[in-house]
Amino acid sequence: MSEPSVFTRILRGEIPSEIVAESERAFVIRDIAPKAPVHLLVIPKTEAYRDVVELAAGDPSLLAELVELARDAAAAHSDGDFRLVFNTGAGAGQTVFHVHAHVLAGGLEEASLGA
Ligand code: 5GP
Repeated sequence: MSEPSVFTRILRGEIPSEIVAESERAFVIRDIAPKAPVHLLVIPKTEAYRDVVELAAGDPSLLAELVELARDAAAAHSDGDFRLVFNTGAGAGQTVFHVHAHVLAGGLEEASLGA
C-alpha cells in the first residue's frame, strides 16, 4: 500500500485544514499557498484517481460533482466567476497525485494562467 495523499490526511484530520464545503463524495479546502485572492481546492474523498483524465474515464459523475462544488464555492467566496485548473502531470506542475481542481477567483487579471 502506498502512503495516503496529503488530501486524504487532511480529510482524516491528520493534517490541519478547514473543510470549507463538502458533498457526499468531495470536499473543498483553501490552498495553503494561494495564487489568487480566492484559491480553493476541490477534491474527491477517494484518492483512486491520480488526475482528471483518469477521473473522467473512471467516474464522470464524480467529475461533474467536482464542477458543481467549484461553482458553489466560487459563488460563496467570490462573485461567482472562476477559473478551474487541473494540473495534469508533473511537467504541468502537478505535485499531488490525488486528483483535485484549483478554483481561482477574485482579481484574476492579477494572476497568471497557471495555478
Ligand atoms: P498541484 O500542484 O498538484 O496541482 O496542486 C497541489 C496544491 O496543493 C498546491 O497548490 C499546494 O499549495 C496545495 N497543498 C499542498 N499541501 C497542502 C496542505 O497541506 N494544505 C493545503 N491546504 N494545501 C496544500
